[in-house]
Amino acid sequence: MYFIKRVKPLGWVALLCTLIISTVIIFLVVGHSSHAGKLSNKATSIKTNFVHKDITVNTEMGEYPGLQLHTELKGLEDYTISINYPFTNLDTIDQPIETWVHNQTEDFLETIQSNETSGDQPFRSHLNIHVETNAITDNIYNIVLNAYHYMGGANGISFTKSFNFNVEEERHLTLEDIFIHPDNDSFNEKVMSEIHNIIAENDDYNEFIDDELLQDNMNSIKDWNWGITKEKFTMYFNEYEIGPGALGDVSFAIEMDQLDDYVQSDWLTTFEMDDEIAKRKQKEKERKAKEKAESQNNNSTPVETDGKYIALTFDDGPHPDVTPRILESLAQYDAKATFFMLGLQVEYYPELAAEVANQGHEVANHSHSHTDMTLLGNDQIAKEIATTNANIENITGSKSVLFRPPYGAYNEQVQNIAKQNGLSIILWSVDSLDWKNRNKHTIHSTVTANATVGSTVLLHDIHPTTADALPEVLKTLSEQGYEFITVSELMEKQGKSGIGPF
Ligand code: ZN
Repeated sequence: MYFIKRVKPLGWVALLCTLIISTVIIFLVVGHSSHAGKLSNKATSIKTNFVHKDITVNTEMGEYPGLQLHTELKGLEDYTISINYPFTNLDTIDQPIETWVHNQTEDFLETIQSNETSGDQPFRSHLNIHVETNAITDNIYNIVLNAYHYMGGANGISFTKSFNFNVEEERHLTLEDIFIHPDNDSFNEKVMSEIHNIIAENDDYNEFIDDELLQDNMNSIKDWNWGITKEKFTMYFNEYEIGPGALGDVSFAIEMDQLDDYVQSDWLTTFEMDDEIAKRKQKEKERKAKEKAESQNNNSTPVETDGKYIALTFDDGPHPDVTPRILESLAQYDAKATFFMLGLQVEYYPELAAEVANQGHEVANHSHSHTDMTLLGNDQIAKEIATTNANIENITGSKSVLFRPPYGAYNEQVQNIAKQNGLSIILWSVDSLDWKNRNKHTIHSTVTANATVGSTVLLHDIHPTTADALPEVLKTLSEQGYEFITVSELMEKQGKSGIGPF
């Protein structure tokens, strides 16, 4: 009797535990699959937006005709995702690119899911997908996507995929488009011998590359992961493909001059024509940057020393649809704000970035590809920060003095490197949660309920709902007597300087 009494409660505990555990598992499974679903749904919905009449006009602001940048950012407790990739609104071009990105994302989420199920997830995972864009002409592009998966440990794993396409002809390029009979042995042998030359000059390659694996991977040209620019023909190999993990992923860039004999004549003509276009564009760009820098210097007005000031900040842009709407609302209330831009977005939408600066707003650094800086080595952190600084200065004509680390994540190295680049680290005191609550009323109430004198408010100029909410936010806060100034102006009033974080 006594025995049964003791067992019964234990049985209940066991039953309860089973229930809780299975609920957690169901939640994880459902939560994550709906997450993955959202990612692909969002890609579609943003694309649909771009065919909208108003936005078609805005696409002319892009640096790369026919190309838009899709940005997907998510900062959750157990993982962060930052995805940037180009799209064209042409299915034949977009589909293979989106499939690759989708598969990388699925793999990432599946790994997290299995780590969490096995209780092996004490760290914050990170997926960063970013793109290097090479314009060969106004229609022909090479894009190199890199996916960096961080799953704990010292290093993440990176995967690279190169795409080459012609927007005007609505198709991806094949090796046959560029080379004469690339399926002949002589072309394969030529590329192979150039790769061997590169290997010979590099100690690590010499030590780690398995020539048999390399030959195997080169056998079928259909499977080549290749990219072309005006100067180089590059072959990409992912981790473990041609050597041990210590080798990492490898790319061999062969000078086009070396392959001259194999290049189709009309492809050579394409290059010649484009040189002139590039030079003309560069000159035009320099002239505009100069003009804007000059007009900006003339516009600077002294800041008053007391009052109810708030610094609104907009992250992750500039976005061709949302940012112009934000600018319009700010102008209506004579409000100045700070835009923490991504280097990749600035690269894609330079005129929009210049326009933001031109309207008297502060343009600041939010890294190049929105990766979690605390997961990077010093060289990579420095590169993320310095390239974005250079982008901003080239395009707006003035130097950025502020850096907001993606996800607000920083450590001592990040602080030091920011300091070396003349940047203060800026966080925020009010989070609008506009990335989570895509509802203008919720954004309005969150901001107005939490904003006080001297607040720095975190918003994002990549969500249409943020642009929807802004007029009401500005109206309510203006009626309460607030004025809107830039972060640098606010810091000056608060007597803050140095590397922060602030
Ligand atoms: Zn951000």
